[in-house]
Amino acid sequence: MSYQYDLFVIGAGSGGVRASRIAASKGYKVAVAEGSALGGTCVNIGCVPKKLFVYGSEYGHGFDEAKGFGWSTDKVEFDWPTLRDNKTKEIERLNGIYGTMLEKAGVEIINGYAKFIDAHTVEVNGVHYTAEKILVAVGAKPFIPDIQGAEFVVSSNEMFFLEQLPKKALVVGGGYIAVEFAGILNGLNVETSLIYRGDQVLRGFDQDIRDFASNEYKKSGIDVRLNTDIAKIELVDANQREGEKLVTFQDGRTEKVDLILYATGRVPNTDGLNLDAAGVELEKGAIKVNKHFKTTTDTIFALGDVINRVQLTPVAIGEAMALISYWFDGNEAEYDYDNIPTAVFSQPPIGTVGLSEEEAEQRGIDFRVYQTDFRAMKHTISGGDARSMMKLLVNNADDKVIGCHMVGDYAGEIIQGLGIAIKAGATKADFDATVGVHPSSAEEFVTFSEASLKKR
Ligand SMILES: Cc1cc2nc3c(=O)[nH]c(=O)nc-3n(C[C@H](O)[C@H](O)[C@H](O)COP(=O)(O)OP(=O)(O)OC[C@H]3O[C@@H](n4cnc5c(N)ncnc54)[C@H](O)[C@@H]3O)c2cc1C
Repeated sequence: MSYQYDLFVIGAGSGGVRASRIAASKGYKVAVAEGSALGGTCVNIGCVPKKLFVYGSEYGHGFDEAKGFGWSTDKVEFDWPTLRDNKTKEIERLNGIYGTMLEKAGVEIINGYAKFIDAHTVEVNGVHYTAEKILVAVGAKPFIPDIQGAEFVVSSNEMFFLEQLPKKALVVGGGYIAVEFAGILNGLNVETSLIYRGDQVLRGFDQDIRDFASNEYKKSGIDVRLNTDIAKIELVDANQREGEKLVTFQDGRTEKVDLILYATGRVPNTDGLNLDAAGVELEKGAIKVNKHFKTTTDTIFALGDVINRVQLTPVAIGEAMALISYWFDGNEAEYDYDNIPTAVFSQPPIGTVGLSEEEAEQRGIDFRVYQTDFRAMKHTISGGDARSMMKLLVNNADDKVIGCHMVGDYAGEIIQGLGIAIKAGATKADFDATVGVHPSSAEEFVTFSEASLKKR
């Protein structure tokens, strides 16, 4: 049986672009279908525009801090449309680069949403395409709980295109997207509350980091409200489709706000794919795959957010590379999900790699913890009261560093380097033998002594 393509990729996001480009460069005849913009979530409504907004909002504190360094910043103004539209221009530039990159690699781009007809056939805009292999890389989408008034809230998708910046906002959720947007809004001088129904934000991160970061968010001006949830949302003026919202909390209190962002998780984007027609099964809402990203149908593969393992761009790209290596080199090695360095671009940011203290305990590891918190040098004269925190976990059995965590300026940048050390199996002795960069915050990681041992 001959097919039109060796590989048909559904979704031109982080994973789909990488897989189609490399497969084409290795000789496959490849097509990729994309229903929205090239580059997927990360480029269009995720990592990239989010980080540009973070940069923009950091100036909010930066101008205040500059005064201590002698700058006069009396007439500071912020214009939301300038930030929003400059961001959009940059994203459109990136969309163009992705298109050129795919075309140069010989990948055929098909604009439209794809759905399965059978195990070798998909349909886009009424046209059928056949392929030997099909890769599903359709990502995930925001999940908003079914509360009364859900139609009046926005998700992270809409945050990138707001007509106006609100004066007062509620951000609902406790994950990284929630704390990042709370920081962005707060930095842009929006009166911001972060509402989370659990005991502490950033579930899954090290508990000390969660507590410390949450306190820093409060100090920076975010009204962090834990163990709080919304019962219903109405419009203050019921005759209008938009405008001020009246929020009723579960304890009966009410509050008027301009914007409510629900950042309450993301779910695999499988609606409309007609997976049944191809025999592709789900497990807890995500496409079920084996260690080589093969679905329950031999000719169909899936990776990235739609398989819901680790929802990060470098992981989707890494999975794509592992799949390519399996297809073209017969490499049986499984993709390694251990020690993935990550950052939360909140204000202050968080960087983390390896195990949290709680995970190390659960695994029954005999370990010790070094921990410190301090006022970074910049804030000695900035007038700010922000503090940084660092934490190192060391396995007592072999002296290997098994976890590095940081809250503070440049945490994301710092943790990338430490990620290499951890991946390479560095010991505490290796850290100690490393010369610090002085003066920096990062040098704390190589100067931890007995004095900073945490009492556990
Ligand atoms: C607000 C936000 C901030 C984030 N920040 C970070 C960060 O700082 N760092 C990080 O590593 N990760 C971040 N992420 C996560 C990151 O964006 C995702 O993990 C990554 O994009 C997943 O890649 P993917 O290839 O699985 O899917 P995606 O990049 O989501 O791509 C899927 C593509 O498939 C398309 N599609 C869907 N259905 C169909 C169909 N039926 N037919 C054709 N096309 C279809 C979609 O339009 C989309 O373009 C963030 C996500 C969000 C929402």
